[in-house]
Amino acid sequence: METIVLYPSPTIGHLISMVELGKFILHHHPSFTITILMVPPAFNTGSSTATYIHHISTTVPSITFHHLPSNIPLDDLDSFPSTGSISFEVAHRSNPHVRRALEKISVSATVSAFIIDFFCTSALPNSKELKIPTYYFHTSGACDLAVFLYFPTLHRNIRTSFKDMNTILDIPGLPGIPASDMKRPVLDRETRDYENFLSVSIDMPNSDGIIVNTFESLETKPLTAIREGKCNPGGDAPPVFCVGPLLATTFRPGGARPDCLKWLDLQPSKSVVFLCFGSLGLFSEEQLKEIAVGLERSGYRFLWVIRSPPTGPGNKSKRFLPPPDPNLDALLPAGFLNRTQDRGFVVKSWAPQVEVLNHESVGGFVTHCGWNSVLEAVCAGVPMVAWPLYAEQHFNRVVLVEDMKLALRMNEMANGFVVADEVERNVRELMDLDSEKGKKIRKVVKEKSEAAKAAMKEGGSSISALDELIRVWKRGNSN
Ligand code: UDP
Repeated sequence: METIVLYPSPTIGHLISMVELGKFILHHHPSFTITILMVPPAFNTGSSTATYIHHISTTVPSITFHHLPSNIPLDDLDSFPSTGSISFEVAHRSNPHVRRALEKISVSATVSAFIIDFFCTSALPNSKELKIPTYYFHTSGACDLAVFLYFPTLHRNIRTSFKDMNTILDIPGLPGIPASDMKRPVLDRETRDYENFLSVSIDMPNSDGIIVNTFESLETKPLTAIREGKCNPGGDAPPVFCVGPLLATTFRPGGARPDCLKWLDLQPSKSVVFLCFGSLGLFSEEQLKEIAVGLERSGYRFLWVIRSPPTGPGNKSKRFLPPPDPNLDALLPAGFLNRTQDRGFVVKSWAPQVEVLNHESVGGFVTHCGWNSVLEAVCAGVPMVAWPLYAEQHFNRVVLVEDMKLALRMNEMANGFVVADEVERNVRELMDLDSEKGKKIRKVVKEKSEAAKAAMKEGGSSISALDELIRVWKRGNSN
């Protein structure tokens, strides 16, 4: 029996992407089985992860979850500075168990490949020693991968923290990136996050290859730069396989069709702007009120997912848990919900984004630029307004606006606050069918949407990349 072992980071976004990769492999190459290693639940990710794992285990029999033992120290993790640093640390502490798991699985099956999330990079030396071909699965785009691979060069050449620099960084394959738009975790060189990301960047080219959730024609420039070795000068360019877009399939534990979709059914074609900011995007009360003012003034129909504002520091053990449902009357301007009831719909905390984006009534998307959201919008052919909040989203915005021409840019003030006028202006430009900027973006997004479909068809670039991987793995097994 041939199995592929996947090792995701357990936060729900990374887990879902990795499972989708497993399902994609199985769909095209059903002779494999998939084993997914799960680190112990070091942080409370809520019931959604457990429910999701149960759902996959019961619906996809060729996928098995292998839970690593929980006898590693976890008590001190609350003192860690960020969710990312916890993810790295838990993977690091689980290393002996990962090795034993790989050895154990290898007794009854041939491990054709071991595919790791970048948060699990500390497993690489183990699998290398066991001579198991090891690949990264990059859940963000090739533009982010280019930054990762070029990061050691930036680190060598620059002595200042990105946050203190007022320059444009020249990264191969990307438009000029303002230093302040670098990934949030690496803005300050004195942090544990910076160190962790630097070691991933150094490790990545030592893998057997990098599988990326993107498609060739979406990110030609960064992919060319990576393959020409420009992103890791002096080293070997790692083989890169673009197998996307892999999107989360709809998973609705409750079953019933949500009210927001029923509301969308009643709206005219392409008339609604959708506002949603990922699994972690939160705004202050002041910012929520400002968005409301901008939306109301725009006059357009809207579907808006609202979460409770952050509760501030001191709540670390709950940092992976979704916040409680928001109190809309307290958070939104007085009378807003009444005044907009015939053209607006507010969803508390979570909407079925993929279904919303694919609904005929949706004509635009204000997004935080998380990579899954970008791919979902591209596939649905929905133009975007880019409003980044965390992780790599700020340079995703630069790429989306300046290079890909798929989004308008939401401009914030120096303190990150976005005023109502800016919200109103962008919504109008995006939604107005006569706006020149809107027209251009709609045209490009339509083309990319077609290209995404073509990539996932038999003979398309993403299917061919998967076939190539499978050939390499099978060849390895027969040697
Ligand atoms: N998502 C959703 N409903 C929401 C918020 C998010 O379905 O209300 C999904 C979205 O469709 C995407 C994922 O959560 O698949 C968010 O991933 P992304 O990479 O965009 O952002 P992240 O949450 O990782 O910052």
